Amino acid sequence: MNQHVPLFIDGQFRKSVSLEWLDVTNPMSNTVIARLPCATRDEMDEAVASASRAFLDWKEVPVPERARLMLNYQHLLKTHHDEIAKLLSSETGKIFADAKGDVWRGIEVVEQAANIASLMMGETVENVAAEIDTYSLTQPLGVCCGITPFNFPAMIPLWMFPLAIAAGNTFVLKPSDQVPLTSIRLAELFKQAGAPNGILQVVHGQKDQVDFLLSHPDIRTVSFVGSVPVARYIFQTGTNHLKRVQAFAGAKNHMVVMPDANKEQVINNLVGSSVGAAGQRCMAISVAVLVDGAKEWIPDLKEEMTKVSPGAWDDSAAGYGPLISQKAKDRVLRLIQEGKDQGAVCELDGSQCVVEGHPDGNWVGPTLFSGVTTDMSIYKQEIFGPVLVCLEVDTLEEAIALVNENPYGNGTSIFTASGAAARKYQHEIQVGQVGINVPIPVPLPFFSFTGWKGSFYGDLHAYGKQAVRFYTETKTVTARWFDDDIPTGPNLTIHLR
Ligand code: NAD
Repeated sequence: MNQHVPLFIDGQFRKSVSLEWLDVTNPMSNTVIARLPCATRDEMDEAVASASRAFLDWKEVPVPERARLMLNYQHLLKTHHDEIAKLLSSETGKIFADAKGDVWRGIEVVEQAANIASLMMGETVENVAAEIDTYSLTQPLGVCCGITPFNFPAMIPLWMFPLAIAAGNTFVLKPSDQVPLTSIRLAELFKQAGAPNGILQVVHGQKDQVDFLLSHPDIRTVSFVGSVPVARYIFQTGTNHLKRVQAFAGAKNHMVVMPDANKEQVINNLVGSSVGAAGQRCMAISVAVLVDGAKEWIPDLKEEMTKVSPGAWDDSAAGYGPLISQKAKDRVLRLIQEGKDQGAVCELDGSQCVVEGHPDGNWVGPTLFSGVTTDMSIYKQEIFGPVLVCLEVDTLEEAIALVNENPYGNGTSIFTASGAAARKYQHEIQVGQVGINVPIPVPLPFFSFTGWKGSFYGDLHAYGKQAVRFYTETKTVTARWFDDDIPTGPNLTIHLR
């Protein structure tokens, strides 16, 4: 019998009373592996009410104790690392090695959350006027919420709730309805690590449940990661309800290849970063911009791509897994067809891909287009599949202009042997995360994840110091302790004295 995915409300895992249930499917076979409830209004209410109550105690818990919870959690996540990765593979189809990376990149954020005391430090200036000091305090906000996508079932929830909770908030998580199982396991381990009841809630559902969170008066912040239309909706609706919102959206990430770059490195990195995880990464390289002589490298690129094939998550020979759903596969196949129809050269076509033993999986083989122009839909749209499109330009200046004209700004990279070219690129490019001879420049958590333009709506980004600012309020105190000897009298000016 299929598992009913529980809700996690007020510290208890329990079966929903909802009458509306969704199927969670295995993308290698499209068979149902679990049933997911769309939480009822009462259940949503209970989750937020429990988080509001828990906040009153949790915000008073000393910072080192909150940090210690994160240390315990980090230890448990490490102990259960492979088991979580296996579960994650089973619901996403991600190959095991990549699933382990997904979990690991989340653990790194928990490690950072264990550092919360130094991250919350305020500032002090003594003697801003005679015997007056000013200092700032960093205080939690209340109940925060997070809505996460399917493609990083461990990492992205862990971008959110550990830092928010370490900062003294409580959190309501609504994981992707396509991959809810990993989030439940993360919550079980959080409870086991000693999390008091109510500081984390996990609710399930889709638009109705998200709308509930966006409009609930007790919710102070909304963290969202997902597709562009939903990110825009979340940002507009959340801010209309006066929430603090950070919404991370889709992407079209370019790798600019200079002719002086190391060809073998370029080809290896292009293949890995475009088809790895079936191209279902927000930082995947989906566009190669080949400058001048690098245009000649397409046959070698094709040859290397041909060597990669998708397969089952536990098949060590597989380069990547299936797409998340039949719907996602249909969309990718439609875009491949549009690329052909619009005149791009399909050098390698993965649309007829079959994987032995898994006839019903959502497979798409590595796909390579050359001769692509910026008006084609395979360039304009985020494909989110194992498809790399190549554009050709003559100069670095043209490449920079092309990337800057693209509406997205999540990540980009340049491969070159020239420091001057790299420096120019890093300075002029209007993209939030830049790799120099590094294809997918996702920063570690002591920095922040800083997408720009159409890839991000908000001000403060995920993890790092920016996330701590997102999840806290700054209070500035100006203090004087009267000394009997100091003459006083009304001060009628704005000056401190
Ligand atoms: P999605 O937008 O379909 O879903 C994301 C979340 O929103 C899920 O929890 C889903 O249940 C919920 N949701 C879906 N439709 C909704 C609606 N109409 N109203 C309210 N909530 C709704 O995204 P996805 O397919 O799960 O994830 C893939 C997308 O996420 C890609 O576009 C990818 O680029 C993007 N992504 C971006 C980043 C980043 O950091 N910029 C990271 C990972 C993924």
